Amino acid sequence: MLALTGCLALSACSGGSAGPPTTTSSAGPSATPSAAGSTGASSGPSSAASSAAPSAPSSAGPVAGAPVVVLDPGHNGGNAAHRAETGRPVPDGRGGTKPCNTTGTATDAGYSEHAFNFDVAQRTERVLEAAGVRVVLTRPNDVGVGPCVDVRGTAGQRADAAAVVAIHADGAAPSGSGFHVALASPPLNPAQAGQSRALGTALHDALRGAGFHDSTYLGERGISLRPDLAGLNFATRPAALVECANMRNPAEAAVVSSADGRQRYAAALAAGILAYLRHP
Ligand code: ZN
Repeated sequence: MLALTGCLALSACSGGSAGPPTTTSSAGPSATPSAAGSTGASSGPSSAASSAAPSAPSSAGPVAGAPVVVLDPGHNGGNAAHRAETGRPVPDGRGGTKPCNTTGTATDAGYSEHAFNFDVAQRTERVLEAAGVRVVLTRPNDVGVGPCVDVRGTAGQRADAAAVVAIHADGAAPSGSGFHVALASPPLNPAQAGQSRALGTALHDALRGAGFHDSTYLGERGISLRPDLAGLNFATRPAALVECANMRNPAEAAVVSSADGRQRYAAALAAGILAYLRHP
């Protein structure tokens, strides 16, 4: 994971709303906030790209310029035990308020959304980094609290990101299934109006290409326009939120609960992000 500033463990920037995650590093090597030395030039992809920059669009090989992408795994493992902290109101980006953060959903068997989100984010991070992308996660592990949605919402601009993708799974009526991509609407700035739509379309098309289907219960052809998501409302960089599946649907619960299934989601998300980065 990339470490740009002291604020990258975003919980540290939220005015003390999210204490505990600071020192834990239980989530495996790629989630451990590494020293600044890893920034960008740690390996060859970017230099390889610059010396052999293709003149024609390519869907393979490293992405030129080593762009930064923020991945925002929704919720957090410590939220449920810190209801007062996560329940406090924070700005929603449109003049109202929302709770700082929520616990998220789970499968009927008890596999939690926050764990799914974090695992898929880490898997996506690995694919992106192999393509020369520098990745920032909004939380360093799955045992902390928060960060609040307004803090997540400004992560893209703080990291100078080319794209921001929030990763979630839904908890809807069991009969519904499929993914949807949420976008801030009406748009509050040019990035939300134009590039975010392009990013969302790229994510949608990649998920479809990977064999996942549009939501049967929400949005329109896999796209949902939302005024109420603070994490998107605050973004001034291209941003989208993906609800990968309905965790209450038995078939999709099986997919999200398997490592193979999560790798499929990660590969699709990374493919969508890379497609956008190559043709924004
Ligand atoms: Zn969620």
